Amino acid sequence: MRVAFVASEAVPHAKSGGLADVVGTLPQYLTDMAVKTVIIMPRYKGIKSTPGKRIRVEMQGLHQVNVFKRDNFLFVDYPDFFVRDGLYGNTKGDYEDNCERFTLFCKVATKLLLEGHYDIVHCHDWQSGLVPLYMKLASHRAKSVFTIHNLGYQGKFPRDKFKLLGISEKYFTAEGLEFHGDVNFLKAGIVYSDMITTVSENYAQEIQSPELGFGLDGILRTRADRLRGIINGIDYNQWNPEIDEFIYVKYADFDGKQKNKVLLCRDHCLDTQRPLIGMVTRIAGQKGFDILVCAIDEIMKTGFNMLILGLGEEAFHEKLRKLENIYHGRLSVNIKFDNKLAHRIYAGADFFLMPSLYEPCGLGQLISLRYGTVPIVRKTGGLADTVIEFAPGSLTGNGFLFSEYTGKALTAATERAYETFGKAEVFRRLSENCMRYNYSWTESAKKYQQLYNSIVSP
Ligand code: ADP
Repeated sequence: MRVAFVASEAVPHAKSGGLADVVGTLPQYLTDMAVKTVIIMPRYKGIKSTPGKRIRVEMQGLHQVNVFKRDNFLFVDYPDFFVRDGLYGNTKGDYEDNCERFTLFCKVATKLLLEGHYDIVHCHDWQSGLVPLYMKLASHRAKSVFTIHNLGYQGKFPRDKFKLLGISEKYFTAEGLEFHGDVNFLKAGIVYSDMITTVSENYAQEIQSPELGFGLDGILRTRADRLRGIINGIDYNQWNPEIDEFIYVKYADFDGKQKNKVLLCRDHCLDTQRPLIGMVTRIAGQKGFDILVCAIDEIMKTGFNMLILGLGEEAFHEKLRKLENIYHGRLSVNIKFDNKLAHRIYAGADFFLMPSLYEPCGLGQLISLRYGTVPIVRKTGGLADTVIEFAPGSLTGNGFLFSEYTGKALTAATERAYETFGKAEVFRRLSENCMRYNYSWTESAKKYQQLYNSIVSP
């Protein structure tokens, strides 16, 4: 079987969040199962690769696009659009020409797909949302799978951009890719793909409800028979404290982990006696920063230190910097994208906080478990599927959860975590239990393979 992935980011070449982890890793596991994979993505700044063929596409005039190659990646090279500092925008917001950028990307990807002999085209998120429709319009035999990694990002553009797409007006309807008068790329992926998946079973249910459906719950309910939830895995070659080259000291037990805590705290001027909460995250409303800002005084009062690594919305950056000044020596705020520091936080923190408003799957909690870093999470989406409340009596469970989206509920969960930290032997057991959870890609890759087999053309 031959499967082409079409996506806007993938490790190791470009990453803004979990999407890149999935698109870069799942193909490796499918390859081990004798599935041939190709990944088509934009050629962003700094991606080293070899020039291949030239392609011409029409988008209000002819555009010459180069296709670069490296391993099983095909990179769509159009420097005006893709050689920039950010993938989709900067701290002020999205790039204004994202519709042009990703329409061109989808058109080039489709041309490449039509030239190959693929059985399955697996598209991810709105940036590749037009591809299933373009494939259908070209009557290609390949079946399409569309994975929603985050329903909150839809690729919505004003109606006057519709002409860029180069398709008949008859597709601009409520049954097609029209959405309250706008063009909606994510909706196109949902409507025109053969199968839809999302990244946890719980999120597959949640997005069919008005609360978390972002206006697309109705269309998702009409396609419920085609919608599946498959939980993401973790690449344990990248995320494993026993072989991790980025962390201070490699480890396989709680004592080794403590050495990392000491060195992490030293580098960030935090004392080592207090329990340390780490966060590695995009800084966006979705990630729960509004309730964190409300709860932080209480969290500090309880006695925690905090180390935050993140990048995103300027308004939250400012609030966090102010808090860092207030809690100098107790709270370290690092506004940047830094993979090495991310690894060190997963290794050195005692707890990992994800107070998300919604969370399709969440990789942070899965990574932190492998490092023995106890997750404190809101009970939503994939977090609810993977974190189980710790029961001190039976020593079962792997973290601390709260349901209500309030600072108060978050504080209560951190208080339970603090109490557990105070019982040294219990906390050691909890941390070592976390290390034993297995969220490898093996099982999830099998589920994708079964899904492909169930729809592939004979
Ligand atoms: P999302 O995809 O919504 O951003 P996930 O939890 O699914 O959230 O995945 C986030 C991924 O991105 C994890 O691998 C996390 O370690 C990484 N990450 C997020 N922000 C940063 C950052 N500022 N620096 C380094 N890695 C980051």
